[in-house]
Amino acid sequence: MGIEADYVWFDGELVPYSQANVHVLSHTLHYGLGVFEGVRAYPQANGKAGVWCLDEHLERFELSARMIRYPCPYSREQLVEACIATLEANGHTEAYLRPLLFLGEKFMGLGARNNPVHVVVATWPWGAYLGDEGMQKGVRIKTSSFTRHHPNAALQRAKVVGHYVNSILARYEANDDGYDEALMLDHHGFVAEGTGENVFVVKGSSVMTPPALNILPGITRWRVIDILRHEGIEVHETAFTRDAFYVADEAFMVGTAAEITPIREVDRRTVGTGEPGPVTRLVQKIYLDAVRGKVDWLAHHITAGR
Ligand code: PMP
Repeated sequence: MGIEADYVWFDGELVPYSQANVHVLSHTLHYGLGVFEGVRAYPQANGKAGVWCLDEHLERFELSARMIRYPCPYSREQLVEACIATLEANGHTEAYLRPLLFLGEKFMGLGARNNPVHVVVATWPWGAYLGDEGMQKGVRIKTSSFTRHHPNAALQRAKVVGHYVNSILARYEANDDGYDEALMLDHHGFVAEGTGENVFVVKGSSVMTPPALNILPGITRWRVIDILRHEGIEVHETAFTRDAFYVADEAFMVGTAAEITPIREVDRRTVGTGEPGPVTRLVQKIYLDAVRGKVDWLAHHITAGR
């Protein structure tokens, strides 16, 4: 199914979906220099949309833009309004939001610096990123033959358009080999992340996740750490190797798109019992309740839509 939306916010105004087009010589299209975000909105008790962790996503968007040396030309207030207005115009209460900053058409070449800077916000309904069955029963993943970017080859904190070629190569490889998702290692061989998710491993009474060094420091990852600590479960941000999954009791992937997705198999080894375990289930339940405004102590992360 294609994208279902009527409007896209494009450089300050809502334009009809079919008119939200760019020139074929747009600089970002050729070289990948641009930044984006992935945000989700969920229906709240009043039936309206609530955007989960919007401020943190927009902060990362602005920082990503600064890191590539194209500061976002819109203020935080304007970006928030763009997100809310696009959801409203599209009649979306449960949707994915995609802010994107890209360079337009005027000059070509890697040294070009004076291209127009465009910002768009699109929204569309998007179900379980790794499938409904994956959400319930867990996904099967495979260590990728593609290594995550070396920290001196990319900006690890930034969500840069071109970085995602690495992720797509890994995702295609995993899918073509019959797996749902790839597990990516860093250049030292330590576990980094999924192609668009962070990862957690549960062993005994504690949980671990790779430190925010050679990964995209995901906003869901921070929320999951908050939830685990709130529940009195120890969580360590520490380096580990792929075999930690082979001996884990439980494992799961987290991200705005993937939410909390259990992992049931890694490299043809069953994780724990092969069923999502109690820690995974608990985090998944609290998270999916929280995004819908049902968890008081996390409710301040929701920005109300109209
Ligand atoms: N790692 C990568 C590479 C990602 O693209 C994403 C999705 N933005 C994540 C982790 C998870 O980040 P978040 O929880 O902020 O969506």
